[in-house]
Amino acid sequence: MEITIRNLSKHYRTEGGSIAALDRINLQIPANKIFTLLGPSGCGKTTLLRCIVGLEIPDEGEITIGDEVVFSSEKKISRPPDKRDLGMVFQTYAIWPHMNVFENVAYPLQAQKKPKDEIARRVAKTLHFVQLDGFENRPATKLSGGQQQRVALARALVAEPKVILFDEPLSNLDAKLREETRKELRRFLTELAITAVYVTHDRLEALSLSDNVAVMKSGKIVEVGTPWEIYFETDRRFVADFIGRVNFIEGSIARMENGSVIVDSGIGTIVCDRKKNLPVNSPVTLGIRPEFIKTFYENPGAAENTFRGRIETLVFTGDVWEAEVKSGTETLVLRIDPTFPVKTGDDIFLHLDRRHCKLLFN
Ligand code: ATP
Repeated sequence: MEITIRNLSKHYRTEGGSIAALDRINLQIPANKIFTLLGPSGCGKTTLLRCIVGLEIPDEGEITIGDEVVFSSEKKISRPPDKRDLGMVFQTYAIWPHMNVFENVAYPLQAQKKPKDEIARRVAKTLHFVQLDGFENRPATKLSGGQQQRVALARALVAEPKVILFDEPLSNLDAKLREETRKELRRFLTELAITAVYVTHDRLEALSLSDNVAVMKSGKIVEVGTPWEIYFETDRRFVADFIGRVNFIEGSIARMENGSVIVDSGIGTIVCDRKKNLPVNSPVTLGIRPEFIKTFYENPGAAENTFRGRIETLVFTGDVWEAEVKSGTETLVLRIDPTFPVKTGDDIFLHLDRRHCKLLFN
């Protein structure tokens, strides 16, 4: 079910006045996809999620779920949470420790006073779906973190909501379990073809789990796109920086040629693909991700974007050497093949891929 958010604002009173947790948000959340709200702490993700659920009343705007208006300041509509047909999974698993797995998952159906045989059937089906068959009688407290999170998911799914909302549900799991649960969650949600709205400040989670990502900053939506678009195609400095490692190189436009922008910078003249026209001499910030800088001991002989550099620091992370390389007045972060015999102080050549030298704007 599609969710449409129009002009949504929410202010909180603070000692010094008021802060805009949401500032005129407009958003179209597509049906049956995983949609992630991503942004730094305090940018308003949870507030937006709570407004969709109905746990928070916005000051202004409208929220439509499917074709039903669940909130409208203008029409004075505000449906309570239990009338919005939503499921929610929180950061803390919020499963009841004094109940076993069956009782936890059955709870929403019991609250709806469903017949016993229907409850048994639906709970069994949902536990099978989250791969917890046979766990019915296990006390909730005797489960691992990942299993508890699956119980929480089963409890949200059992009522067959049209939309399911997740507030950082994996943040209490250790790194390995988080990765496994993320993959599982993507599989569950894709199979169910349910509308999922997912809040996280973890960029890897957003990239690997989502069909679409909305990046938020200071109560506003800054950019919406597929993970691929957000990672590779953004021309916003904030988004490029938030979604992954990026080197910023300050420079100025030397000239524009057919299909190219030539930038003078502290490491030399850099040629980038031309996306828009900019006046000569205007200051620019160029962004390039570490993976698009190649290293060589001998001059690779490329006509453009080859520079000399010296390795200042090296950190071995197993899959790569993470290196800081000084080139001209800039220090660039890049990744070197771990089998490459490098050491600190080595003089090397760098080659920057022109297709991935992006001009970034505020
Ligand atoms: P996090 O990732 O840390 O959970 P977030 O992006 O979810 O952050 P919100 O929790 O939505 O951010 O908060 C947005 C802003 O509103 C923050 O500045 C926060 O301090 C403020 N805020 C949130 N809830 C309240 C409240 N009940 N009273 C006052 N201010 C609040």
